[in-house]
Amino acid sequence: MVLPIDNPTKSFWIESAESPLRNHRTTEDLPKETDVLIVGSGYTGASFAYWLHKFTSNGTTPRMVMLEARDVCGGATGRNGGQLRPHFYSRYRNWSTRFGADGALKVIQHEAAHLKSFDKLFNGEGIAEKVCFKLGETFDAAMSEEAWDRLKGEYELMKKDHGENGPIIGECRLIEDSKEAEDFTQMKGCIGAVVHPSGQVWPYKFVHALLDILLSAGKLNLQSHTPALEISERGADGLITVKTNRGEIKAKTVNRWASHLLNEFSNLIYGGRGTIAAIKAPEGFIKNTGAQHWDAVVNNYHLQLPPPYNTIIIGGAKPLTVHDPWQYLNNDKEDEQFKGVPEFYSRWPKKDIVDWQGKDPADFEKKVEDGGVWSGVYSSSIDSFPFVGPVPRREGNFVAAGFAGHGMPRILGSTAHLAPLVLKELGIEYATPEAAAIFPPLPQPFLATQERIDSLKDIDAIKKFQDSHTEDLASSKKPFAAPFPQIVTD
Ligand SMILES: Cc1cc2nc3c(=O)[nH]c(=O)nc-3n(C[C@H](O)[C@H](O)[C@H](O)COP(=O)(O)OP(=O)(O)OC[C@H]3O[C@@H](n4cnc5c(N)ncnc54)[C@H](O)[C@@H]3O)c2cc1C
Repeated sequence: MVLPIDNPTKSFWIESAESPLRNHRTTEDLPKETDVLIVGSGYTGASFAYWLHKFTSNGTTPRMVMLEARDVCGGATGRNGGQLRPHFYSRYRNWSTRFGADGALKVIQHEAAHLKSFDKLFNGEGIAEKVCFKLGETFDAAMSEEAWDRLKGEYELMKKDHGENGPIIGECRLIEDSKEAEDFTQMKGCIGAVVHPSGQVWPYKFVHALLDILLSAGKLNLQSHTPALEISERGADGLITVKTNRGEIKAKTVNRWASHLLNEFSNLIYGGRGTIAAIKAPEGFIKNTGAQHWDAVVNNYHLQLPPPYNTIIIGGAKPLTVHDPWQYLNNDKEDEQFKGVPEFYSRWPKKDIVDWQGKDPADFEKKVEDGGVWSGVYSSSIDSFPFVGPVPRREGNFVAAGFAGHGMPRILGSTAHLAPLVLKELGIEYATPEAAAIFPPLPQPFLATQERIDSLKDIDAIKKFQDSHTEDLASSKKPFAAPFPQIVTD
């Protein structure tokens, strides 16, 4: 990946939040030196800085500078689906095949712990309402027999390995009766569903709220519109030099975001693009967050914000976009809409929600080009797990990247793992705050080890994309794809 592109489509989350921090620069000039330099002001950078502060509440917080190429939180976190939705069971087959029954459970437990940790953090800081945080239930709605076989199969396999009332699986339930499934999910034509605990949040607002806490406490120097362009090796003076468009900074440690700043990750982390819309809806209309599934590729996901917003946030649009997979595979065109998606989203409520009482076609919260419908780019990794930890063979460098379209239930625990490692490197004493102590150890597949990097570096990424493209095109031939007159053109 390269630097984030200019002129991204506008997102409802960013435009409606009207944050005074949007173009924040704590000081007119960049500081000359810092202890910790953080690249990127999204969820990863902000939560990492927040943990450094909280782990050192005895007053030993290191000096922190955060560089942001765009406006503050202008990347994936400001453009995502707002779903804090751990994979309680739905990846079990894949993960248990790769890591064994216990290894898979550890990944799932780490994700699930995010619900409790966020609850503790937001309520502890008194910002739960401000960031529209809600815990509740979510569903996977099977919209075809193929989807039902897969979802139910994942659930049954995990139940077989861990027992009906076992950890995590005991918190999931099946709705096998189609009428009951349709009532619960509010999805027309749903034939069965799996339900489990989940959460939702306004991601941009929560990142800005964390940054506000740090800035108010005088713990952070935040510099928007300042891309990190080059990062040196650690010099004889023990410092790393970071070049920007506004001069250089020297830092004791650097927490990096993406593959363009670490060439050993260039074949391991790449961009993928998603699409989201914000639709006007009657208050309290959608009862639970959820996702519709037709097969392993084709889905939509949605939630409704609490009053006064009441907005439905819908993402996916895969029944439409699957016709042209290069629109989302290895694509970072955040400045373009997907073809035909505004029409798709505006027709979706009436077509798919039981007894929709809003307009048809639905109104967006803002004009399409002003934040009604937008694109967002996330960084995926070649083996579907993030890279977290000290960067092998690069002293003083740490990485937390590659969270793909599923960062919300992974990042807070990853940065809680990283913060004490950086403090140790700096020789600073720390104590683990309660919200961080909730997390079990970082799952093995997340660790950025040399062994993992070596085992992946010869993978042919281009072939992998070609294979995904072929598979996805096969989905586009199935009867559930393209429910609308096709607007897709080349
Ligand atoms: C359309 C879409 C929908 C999604 N929906 C969900 C969802 O519902 N649930 C979920 O769990 N996950 C979802 N995700 C994924 C989730 O948003 C990400 O995993 C998460 O936001 C990643 O956070 P981050 O801080 O690592 O990245 P970002 O939020 O992208 O932050 C990185 C920041 O670094 C900046 N930057 C990059 N390079 C440089 C540089 N050289 N110098 C300075 N700054 C730099 C970028 O501008 C950016 O602001 C979605 C993602 C997208 C795109």
